[in-house]
Amino acid sequence: MTFEPSARGPATLQGESLWLVFQGASVLVSEDDHSFPVLRDVAWLGLEELSRHYLGSLDGKAAFAVAAAQASQAPSGFRFEDLRRLLGHADDRLFSLAGRAFQILEWERNHRFCGRCGSPTVPHADGERSRLCPACGFSSYPRINPCVIVAVTRGEEILLARAQRFNRPMFSTLAGFVEAGESVEETLHREVLEEVGVRVRNLRYFGSQSWPFPGNLMLGFHADYAGGELVLQEDEIAEAGFFHFSRLPVIPPRGSIAHALIQAFVASCQGR
Ligand SMILES: [Zn+2]
Repeated sequence: MTFEPSARGPATLQGESLWLVFQGASVLVSEDDHSFPVLRDVAWLGLEELSRHYLGSLDGKAAFAVAAAQASQAPSGFRFEDLRRLLGHADDRLFSLAGRAFQILEWERNHRFCGRCGSPTVPHADGERSRLCPACGFSSYPRINPCVIVAVTRGEEILLARAQRFNRPMFSTLAGFVEAGESVEETLHREVLEEVGVRVRNLRYFGSQSWPFPGNLMLGFHADYAGGELVLQEDEIAEAGFFHFSRLPVIPPRGSIAHALIQAFVASCQGR
């Protein structure tokens, strides 16, 4: 599956296109197999369309993000499904394309007025992905928030925590946003110390994942425990501990980078 991103769409629709139609954080999928509609024109579905953005081409097929009015009913054979619930069910590449669509629509919805002078903004005339303020010239672009996520390990054990905000008994790796002025490494050390009171060393970059709720870029690391007793930041962490790789608690679902970080650690232990 090859995706070529672009903000400049074709002048006319040609052949079938892929339509990522959102109503808030819910995306239109077929009822039978959760696939996204592939049609010559989304207008055929009879939804009230608020805006449309070209995303690029997926295997030569044009892909569009569309915002549908809240009052629009899903057409027969389709339903609006919470994007989060497709994680691990939709193909990873399609899920990330849907995440891209959602972030662009959210950015547009949140930047209808200039943050500097308050005037209404307009889409950039060159087809660039930005909104321009005609009154003061200020431009706004879709932004992402970098976020560090780290699996701290100690021999055959991994440090996992249950966040207060989780509404089920699930343990995950530690994570936190990069603050203005920080390097990613500084964030990692600060977050681990703040959340559980321990120090780490030997940081190894693992990989990254776009996480569209609402617009984060998760930067995944492994790190070694270097010292300190577990002291939990109680307003954020309900419970935390070191777990042996063979006796893990409930962890985040497949498709999340937390799951991949934990599985990579388990595989490295099993390979010893
Ligand atoms: Zn302005």
